[in-house]
Amino acid sequence: MENNFKKNDALQTPVQFLKGVGEKRAEAFASAGIHTLEDLLGFTPRRYLDRSAMRRISDLQEDDEVTVMGEISAKQLVPRGRKRLLVRIHDGSASMDAVWFNQPDLFNRIFEQGQVVAFSGKVKRFKSWQMVHPDYDILTDGREALNTGQLIPLYPSGQHFKRVGLSNYAIRKIISLALKKYGDAISESLPLGLVKRYRLPVRKQAFQQMHFPATADDMKQVWRRFKYEELFYLQLMMALRRHHYYTPQVGQKMDVEDRFFSDTISALPFKLTNAQTRVLGDIRKDMASGRPMSRLVQGDVGSGKTVVAFVAMRMAIESGYQAALMAPTEILAQQHYFSLQEMLKDTSVNCGLLLGSMKAKEKREMQERIAAGDVDLIVGTHALIQKAVEFKQLGLAVIDEQHRFGVLQRGELVEKGPKPHVLVMTATPIPRTLALTVYGDLDVSVIDELPPGRQEIRTFWRRQDKQLQVQEFIRDRINRGEQAYVVYPLVEESEKLDLKAATEAYESLTQKAFSEFRLGLLHGRMKMDEKESVMQAFKRGEVQILIATTVIEVGVDVPNASVMVIEHAERFGLSQLHQLRGRVGRGSQQSYCILMTPAQLNQVAQERMAAMEGTNDGFKIAEEDLRLRGSGEFFGTRQSGMPDLRYADLIHDLAIVQTAREDAFAIVEGDPHLRKPHNNYVLRHFKLHYEQKYNLPDIA
Ligand code: ADP
Ligand code: MG
Repeated sequence: MENNFKKNDALQTPVQFLKGVGEKRAEAFASAGIHTLEDLLGFTPRRYLDRSAMRRISDLQEDDEVTVMGEISAKQLVPRGRKRLLVRIHDGSASMDAVWFNQPDLFNRIFEQGQVVAFSGKVKRFKSWQMVHPDYDILTDGREALNTGQLIPLYPSGQHFKRVGLSNYAIRKIISLALKKYGDAISESLPLGLVKRYRLPVRKQAFQQMHFPATADDMKQVWRRFKYEELFYLQLMMALRRHHYYTPQVGQKMDVEDRFFSDTISALPFKLTNAQTRVLGDIRKDMASGRPMSRLVQGDVGSGKTVVAFVAMRMAIESGYQAALMAPTEILAQQHYFSLQEMLKDTSVNCGLLLGSMKAKEKREMQERIAAGDVDLIVGTHALIQKAVEFKQLGLAVIDEQHRFGVLQRGELVEKGPKPHVLVMTATPIPRTLALTVYGDLDVSVIDELPPGRQEIRTFWRRQDKQLQVQEFIRDRINRGEQAYVVYPLVEESEKLDLKAATEAYESLTQKAFSEFRLGLLHGRMKMDEKESVMQAFKRGEVQILIATTVIEVGVDVPNASVMVIEHAERFGLSQLHQLRGRVGRGSQQSYCILMTPAQLNQVAQERMAAMEGTNDGFKIAEEDLRLRGSGEFFGTRQSGMPDLRYADLIHDLAIVQTAREDAFAIVEGDPHLRKPHNNYVLRHFKLHYEQKYNLPDIA
């Protein structure tokens, strides 16, 4: 549908046409993602200076931790002794010096006489009052200090803004004029009933107070409102997606016979764990229900998710449908393809593989076979969701390692069939309540048990100077007939350099430290068949030590490998380290993970290494990861396909998450097309801000 809402909404006025903006400033705003008046109103202050908490300089005491504000009356680069910058401010009562020993030249360029600034830090008496390396805020313009209330909002700024004179003061001036002119056009975005129930400030008032706050409590209310709004729409997306993709329509009923089910399971090379059996029970029920399944299977690395997917796919195929398995990397897709083929060798099921790196001709042939229904089970990467791929009758879509895909990509695979069942698998063991937010449109089953006979992986953190001992250790394990991985980080910005590190390491290890062994090299830039042959050789044990980049991070399964050495472990996030470690400990022998780092390590990296040494429990690792990184980064948009949260924090605002979820789901339940008059605001806001951006079902 054409988005009519956009046209007659004053808030969609391009910032360029606001008083005080113009072309240059509009460009600067655009660089900060601000295009419309509404974007500008939503330009969140990074923090507020509270004038009531400020101290007059004449009232200072030794060792106070305070904020003072004043005008810069002098500054001086002192070259004698240790070079330093002195910046003197005066606040009408007395003066104080701020001192920078680090990068004095840099700060000399930042501060200018006449600026009004706020310094926060600890005060010392040293001839005059001093603060060393204080936190600072530049209020740029004396008027700022004069004509504001108790709270002064401070906006994110940068060179883009400075160049065009967009000072803190200028920004507020623009917002103030815009609010005068367009304030009445700010309509509510939440159902009024909910605004009332939670006593939220209405949207117009909230914007007003965000930029021109009167009291600290106002601020709290404003934040509460925007947190709720943000989470409400997040959950509304979940509710709509769930409702429109899955719930009401008739799904494919795939009701396999008990006999087939038990035969399939007993033909497996091992006995399923209780957890696997339970999860398969959930899946079987879903698939037989006549409603499309949408289930997340969460299980730590090595818990055996693949085989669960395998049985589910067999059920779909037995019912006359095709099944697809999408994996995030080519190596993983290939590995799945080979192991599935192995499991299918006594059946009549046809299995196919589709990868982006295949030759055009091969791809086309495979696509034709998929469209003709010639292959029953298709394994692939993102290549599966390309336009050219059409299924004859896709009945089950499995997405492996969901955390590596965006939610959007999941949707794209699902749309390849007439309401196929959907199974997504992830090893990211996020706390259940948080799962509501990220996977809020899915049912969740947990494989909370590892196959029997596994031993705890032992993890050691070693500094680079222990390299020889580590090599000795690897040599010993290889001599016992086991295998090892040595992994090098691959940082996107400098892919070439890191590739070089892995390649050079391969050459030097082959020639020196491990010259008696057979080594293999694996990285993302290799051709598909090269990767495949290295991987197969490693699987067969012909390659004893595999030097790799993180292409092996997810899913790779070689049970005889018992040692995982991670070079530059400090460059990896916790979840990634845990995934890598999960490549070993898959057989019955004792396995080891060795984290190699430089001698010098920052605090957070040290905590990560300690966390890895301290536990094998993916759940604990995830919580620690959340703690160290914060929810924003943990649920980065790339992982979740979700909007960035600007106000809410998924850990601290869990109560709001839950309330917003209940409210949003109730609304969709009662009015799935948001057609009722009282949901008018919601429909409008949703159409404007979410529907197209996040590829949601067209609901109206
Ligand atoms: P993940 O959950 O990390 O995807 P996989 O599906 O790769 O784990 O399984 C890990 C390993 O455990 C594989 O080698 C698989 O064959 C094996 N496995 C899975 N289930 C069982 C089981 N019930 N008993 C023994 N081994 C199993
Ligand atoms: Mg897996």
